[in-house]
This record gives sequence, structure tokens and C-alpha cells, in this order.
Amino acid sequence: MAEAIDDEVDGIAKLGPKFAAIHIDKKLKVSLQLAKKHVNLLLHRLLDTNDDTDCVVWYRYLVAAGNEFYDFKSEVLKYDDASRCGLVWTANFVAYRCRTCGVTPCMSICSDCFHNSDHTGHDFNMFRSHAGGACDCGDVHAMRHTGFCSNHVPGKRSVQKPPSHLLAMAELVVPRIVYHFVLRLRKLCQPERNGSYKLTEVMKEQYTQVSQLLDDLSKMGGAMKHVICQSLCNPENYKILSSTEDLAVLPNDDKKKFKESSIDEYYAALLTLPTPSIPEILQDCPGLSQILVHTSFLQEIMFWMVKYEFPEKIITFLLSLLTDVEYKASS
Ligand SMILES: [Zn+2]
Ligand SMILES: [Zn+2]
Ligand SMILES: [Zn+2]
Repeated sequence: MAEAIDDEVDGIAKLGPKFAAIHIDKKLKVSLQLAKKHVNLLLHRLLDTNDDTDCVVWYRYLVAAGNEFYDFKSEVLKYDDASRCGLVWTANFVAYRCRTCGVTPCMSICSDCFHNSDHTGHDFNMFRSHAGGACDCGDVHAMRHTGFCSNHVPGKRSVQKPPSHLLAMAELVVPRIVYHFVLRLRKLCQPERNGSYKLTEVMKEQYTQVSQLLDDLSKMGGAMKHVICQSLCNPENYKILSSTEDLAVLPNDDKKKFKESSIDEYYAALLTLPTPSIPEILQDCPGLSQILVHTSFLQEIMFWMVKYEFPEKIITFLLSLLTDVEYKASS
């Protein structure tokens, strides 16, 4: 049985990214389980190569069900239900702050939102951001709705749900992209003598392509952000993809070894975290448990962010997802 599926996946791989994606998308309309199996086996093969350029081409076609990525993006953007701007910026970006509209003193908005809203007679200023930030326009927890720009006033965005099949392939493939990204973070870890981890330029190049793809996906608006956030936060995804549970379906030993070794690297990195000794009387407090257990990709990514001393690109990506209400609540 395993061999038959393997032969089938061989045939699909030979179609190339675009036609393989169209083929699997057709299967998906008939059987979710079969399409999932094909996607997983196909993507396991891709992980074997060290060339992420090739993987990214495959991912882009698969997510878009064989359509051109940018055509797919404009289709998905029609269902952007995010009512907040959420634009993320890095150091030296020029932003605005309005004390009359702000509910919190650190409220800030991007210049587009500022110029599209009316702050006449308000106590506002323009500033150059030192550490980076995100636009609060549209967020009632950060500012009064009277200061929202015309694009982010409540009720402006369509609440229409995307057609059920539009994101069906993305729902299968995005968890795999997140998994690929986490594997790269694990594989790249080369502890220095003092136990800290540094991302060298060569390493950055290796993970940048997959993180750039995740960033491109997050720019498809609220509907796609929701799929990404589900992939990041869903404990089931993490359990199945990051454990050895699905190894049984893998047809060859190399892939098993690859996956097992990446798990070893993750555990080795976990052990390098300094753990303070806990007084005996507090040993039973769950929050003080010395064994760190991650239950979602987001948690493991946060762990690597600390290890790698907060790489800007990934932090920006994670912040850009904060317009997703469920994600904001769980992070
Ligand atoms: Zn904005
Ligand atoms: Zn706005
Ligand atoms: Zn104002």
C-alpha cells in the first residue's frame, strides 16, 4: 500500500509544481484524506533537498491550487476582513501619535492612516520610531474610533466569508510551510562556545526564503492570516508534524533519519536554557516546572527567537499577524 502511494506521488512530482497542484486540488474535492497524504509525502521529499528556492516555487503553486501566486493573492485579498491596519515597521520609520485619540500613551499610527483621518485641533506629533512598532488604527483597545482613518472605520470591511474551496489547499500546505520553517530554525542552530546561538549571514540566507514566503502570505489579508495563525497555534498540527508520529507513512529511511535528527537538535537546544533551581517547597508549582514543553509551532518559534536574539524579519512577521483576533488572544 505504502509503495502504491509512493508510486502515485512519484507520478505527481513529475508533473511539476503547477500541474501537480492542479491535480491535488482536484483530488481534494473528492477526498481530503487522500489529498492530505499526497501533499505530506510530496513535501517530505522536497524537504530532503537543501535548496529552498525549489521548495518555495512548489509551495507557491500548491497554496494557490495551481494558479499564479499574484492572481491568487488578489482573489484572497477580496476577503480581507481585518478591520485594523496592523502595518509593522522597523527602526527609523516615521509614524504619528495623537494624544487626543489615543487610549494608551504608546498608541501610534502609520502615515497613510494619519493622513486619511481627521486630527484637526488634536494634540499630535510625528516621530521617528527607534525600535519599530505597528499601526494601531482600527484597534479600539489602543485609540478612540473617532481617530480611525476612512479605511479602518468599523463596518468598512466586507465580512463576507471566502468561498469554502478558495483556501482549502492553503489549509493543507501552510502548516507544512510553518513546519519547514521550524525545521530550518532547528537545523541552523550552531551553539557558540558560551552556549549562545548566532545566525550567520549564510544561515540567514538559508531560512530567509521560507520566512519571506510566510511574510508574502501574511500580506494576503485577514482570510489568509487566519490560516497562518491556525497553523501556528493549533496544538494538533504541532503534535503530528513535530513528533515522529507520522513517520510510519514515510517510505524511506533517510527521511526518518532527517526528522529524528532535527528533533535531537531541538532537544539539545532546549537543554541549553539555564534553569534556576527551585526551592523544594515550590517544586509542585506547574508554572515553575523545569521541563519546558512547547505545544504549538508559535511557542517553539518564540523559543528560537530568544535563542537567535530576535531576528528582525521574523519578529516583524509575527507582529503583522496581530490583527487576527484569535492569534492576538493566544499569543
Ligand atoms: Zn496604518
Ligand atoms: Zn487606518
Ligand atoms: Zn487624533
